[in-house]
Amino acid sequence: MGSLNQTNAALAWQNDGACINAFGAHLRRRFGGRVQRVSLDAGFTCPNVDGAVAKGGCNFCDNRSFSPSRRVRLQKVAQQLTTGIETVRKRYSKVVGFIAYFQPATNTYAPVEQLKEIFELALSLHPEIVGLAIGTRPDCVPDSVLNMIEQLAKKSDVSVEFGMQSIHDASLDWMNRAHSHADMINAIDRSRNRGFETCSHVILGVPGETHEMMMQTAAEIGRLGFDAIKLHNLYAVKGTPLGDEVIAGKVRMMEYETYLNTLVDFLERIPPQVIVERISGDAPSDFLIEPKWCLRKSELRLAIEKEFARRGTVQGSHWKASTSSPGDRPIPADGTPAAIKEQIDQRGRLPVLKLQDHAERQHD
Ligand code: SF4
Repeated sequence: MGSLNQTNAALAWQNDGACINAFGAHLRRRFGGRVQRVSLDAGFTCPNVDGAVAKGGCNFCDNRSFSPSRRVRLQKVAQQLTTGIETVRKRYSKVVGFIAYFQPATNTYAPVEQLKEIFELALSLHPEIVGLAIGTRPDCVPDSVLNMIEQLAKKSDVSVEFGMQSIHDASLDWMNRAHSHADMINAIDRSRNRGFETCSHVILGVPGETHEMMMQTAAEIGRLGFDAIKLHNLYAVKGTPLGDEVIAGKVRMMEYETYLNTLVDFLERIPPQVIVERISGDAPSDFLIEPKWCLRKSELRLAIEKEFARRGTVQGSHWKASTSSPGDRPIPADGTPAAIKEQIDQRGRLPVLKLQDHAERQHD
C-alpha cells in the first residue's frame, strides 16, 4: 500500500492498458497475487454519534448499531479475523494475503494504548495478514494517534481512510458530518510523509452539488496529495434519516447514466498515481432503498471502461498538476477538537473494545 511505489504502480497500470489505477491490480503487483480485505468491527463508536461533536450521526449512516448492546454481541476481533479469513478462502482459492480492515464507526476513537493493542493484535494474529486499513473521520486523528500509526507503518502496510466526502461545507452540513473541509486539510497535512497510505472517501450525488462542485472535489484529491480514493454514489439505506427522506420523496438519488458520466469525469481529474479502491457504494439488497442500480457493480465497471474508451481518455487525462506539491505546505498544529482529544487521551473512559480473551492471549 505505501506511497513509495506509486510512480512505478502508475506506470504499471498504464502499461497494462488499464483505464484506472485499480486497487485489485495494484495489490496483485504489490503482493504477487490476490489480496482480500477482512472487515472487522472492534466495537468503536463515533464522536458524531455519542455527542462529543454532535449526536445523530451522518444522515446516511445506520449508527443505531453503535450501541453498547452491539459491543456485547460482537465477536472478539481475533475471532472475526479468523472467521473472515476462512470465509474468503472458501470463496477464492488463490488468496496470498489479507488486509485487516477496521471499517464500521470511527476506528481511531479510543485511547492510543487501546488502539495500539488492537491494531497490533490484528497484524500479528495470522501470517497471511499483510496490512491494516483504518477507517476514520478527519477530526479524529490527533497527533498522538498519528504518531502511533506511524510506528505501526514502519513494520507493516497501513492505510488510513478518511471520510472526506466533499470539499463543500454546505454538503458536509447537509450530511450532518459535524466537521468541515478545513478539518480534512488539517488531518491530511499532519498525516503526510509518515509512511502510511492516506485514502479519501468521497460521495458523489449530494443534493445541491453541481457537476462543477464535484469536479472541484476531484481537483482537491491531487492538491491534498491523497494516495488512494474510494468513490461512492450517495445511496440510502433503511433506518437512516436519508432513507426516510428518500421514501418520502424529498431526496432523489443520482440516475445510473449521470453517475457513470460524473464518475468518469471525476477519475479523469485525479492524478494517475492515485489508487482507485472503489468506484461505487453498495449495501445488502434487503437494506438498500435507492438507487437499486448500485447493486450492478460489474456492469458499472464494464461501463466505465467502455466510456473511457469512447472518450479516448484514462484516469488523470484532465488532471492539472499544480506548481507546488502537497508536501510544500507546512505541517499545521493539531486541530483535533478538544472534546475528541479528551476522549482519546483519557484511557478507560471509552467502552471496552473487542480484543481477545485474556486466556487466549496467554497462549500466543
Ligand atoms: S462519521 Fe462515519 S461512523 Fe460517524 S456517523 Fe458519520 S458515517 Fe457514521
